Amino acid sequence: MAVRNILRMGHPLLRQRSRELSKEEILSDWFKSLIFDMTETMHATNGVGIAAPQIGEMVRVSVVEFANENARYPEMGEQTLTVFVNPVLKMTNLSEQSFWEGCLSVPDLRGLVSRPSGVFAEFLDEKATKKTLQADGFLATVLQHEFDHLDGILYVDRLRDTTRLSFVDEYKQFWAPQSLHKELPD
Ligand code: ZN
Repeated sequence: MAVRNILRMGHPLLRQRSRELSKEEILSDWFKSLIFDMTETMHATNGVGIAAPQIGEMVRVSVVEFANENARYPEMGEQTLTVFVNPVLKMTNLSEQSFWEGCLSVPDLRGLVSRPSGVFAEFLDEKATKKTLQADGFLATVLQHEFDHLDGILYVDRLRDTTRLSFVDEYKQFWAPQSLHKELPD
């Protein structure tokens, strides 16, 4: 068990659809190792979420965790470590919100992405128990970003205005100070 190598944009596996897991697989030792590795890798890279394909495991699993450490963005809220297996999303609020998103697989860049502001997730947890979660605001964007990975979609595909794609340093210099929008750390 270890911090794993993160695949970067251009790797073909990031563009493939991942497969669902069976209950037996979720209850296996292999799955425990996978979640441990995903969590360690997310922590080591300061991500707020990670999807299994980002470490080359082509299964429908995402892990999300963030704390409200940044006082500039109190609206981020916080989310304790949550494992999403075979997630299905329904949009519950189609009015859009925009965040400057980043991605562990697209290092050093930020892009302003508009997405629906409310979603309802149905998924299995790490014990293969059915769960649901209504998510609004920042969490709604994080879930859409992470679950997109399971279908081979990256946030850069969601950009409607490529003038709002920036390196992190330029983002901090030119966009963050005047930001009417919020930043998704990774
Ligand atoms: Zn990502």
